[in-house]
Amino acid sequence: MFMEKILAKLSREVSVNYPLAKRHLFKKKTGNAKFFYELCFDETMENDLKVFGELYKENLPFVLFSQGTNLLISERGYDGLFVAVGTKGAGIKFDEKTSEFHVSANATVGVLVKDTTERGYDFSPLTGVPGLVGAGIVGNSGWPANPTKRDFDYFVKRIKVFDLQKGEFEWMTPDGDFFGTRDSFLKQQNKGKTRYIVVESVLASEYIGKENVKELVQRQTEERRESSYFGFKEGTAGSVFSGGHIVMATGKKIQMMLSENPDINIDANGATFSSNGARLFKTEPHTTDKDVAKWFSHVTQKVKEYYGHDLHKEVVLLDYDGEVTLPEFLGRYDKKLGACGLSKKQELEVK
Ligand SMILES: Cc1cc2nc3c(=O)[nH]c(=O)nc-3n(C[C@H](O)[C@H](O)[C@H](O)COP(=O)(O)OP(=O)(O)OC[C@H]3O[C@@H](n4cnc5c(N)ncnc54)[C@H](O)[C@@H]3O)c2cc1C
Repeated sequence: MFMEKILAKLSREVSVNYPLAKRHLFKKKTGNAKFFYELCFDETMENDLKVFGELYKENLPFVLFSQGTNLLISERGYDGLFVAVGTKGAGIKFDEKTSEFHVSANATVGVLVKDTTERGYDFSPLTGVPGLVGAGIVGNSGWPANPTKRDFDYFVKRIKVFDLQKGEFEWMTPDGDFFGTRDSFLKQQNKGKTRYIVVESVLASEYIGKENVKELVQRQTEERRESSYFGFKEGTAGSVFSGGHIVMATGKKIQMMLSENPDINIDANGATFSSNGARLFKTEPHTTDKDVAKWFSHVTQKVKEYYGHDLHKEVVLLDYDGEVTLPEFLGRYDKKLGACGLSKKQELEVK
């Protein structure tokens, strides 16, 4: 009741028992969110952010996602407020004086690349990265095969966040330690409990002329054509391991590893690498979290065995009580690996 009282202060109605499968690309069997709300980037935003701040202060369960392309939700769903960032009202403004782009966090990376191309500024390394700009900054997204190796950190000058702890907006200027490979200060700070919500950023890049940018964008679009699509012939697929870490550690892409050693992959009742495109992860409507855990466990062990590399989980694993680590997920859903953190009743539920 206490949480409901706080949620009643939000600008629009909150959906109850919302089926999260609607927000999921590649995990077909997905539970419900106890509460669901879409954050709009309009005159209602500040009020809603302040309400999230109240949830933060009261330690009430709340998570925020943009387009969910880096998210795997369990069958048990989420037992709190799941906030999705809406794309309505997204904006990109060019400052002629500074040659900087002011970008709202709910703009898609696709629109960012398109708009900056029109003005002749080179954001081509981000071509084909799915999702929204705010999420791209938090996860320092980029395409590991791009020859310049430029991820989001290369372009970010300043970031406007809402600090839920302080209940106010704040501008951050990233220093050399702010970003890591598919990582950032914000991602680290938000682990376990979301403190910072990105609302805007100031981005910049070199001017090389529209035709030159267009050519680079077209080249990258061609190179990653199949992997850019969420939809594959046999269903939708998602990226669960960080390609950047794999290439850095082994010099190979996961596709190469799979063709060298096909037994890295298994089909655990539908949980498997897609057979085409970038060999991403897919499931079937009958695939359970136990199957997903079995697949994760098999793949990580085989890659370690063949290449000595510990695969770096990129995807966020969301269970009923919040984000969990891969060992926690395996412990919860694959009994052979030893249950961790579950009561006897919950263990029975997942058998
Ligand atoms: C087919 C496919 C291809 C992909 N290719 C790439 C690629 O080339 N390069 C790459 O890096 N990744 C890639 N990914 C992974 C994913 O698309 C990226 O990580 C992307 O940046 C996620 O954007 P999103 O809007 O879907 O974020 P979400 O999945 O919704 O969220 C990701 C994380 O960001 C946090 N977050 C989101 N918005 C905000 C905000 N406004 N403020 C604070 N925190 C926020 C969420 O809490 C979550 O922890 C790919 C995924 C798929 C399915």
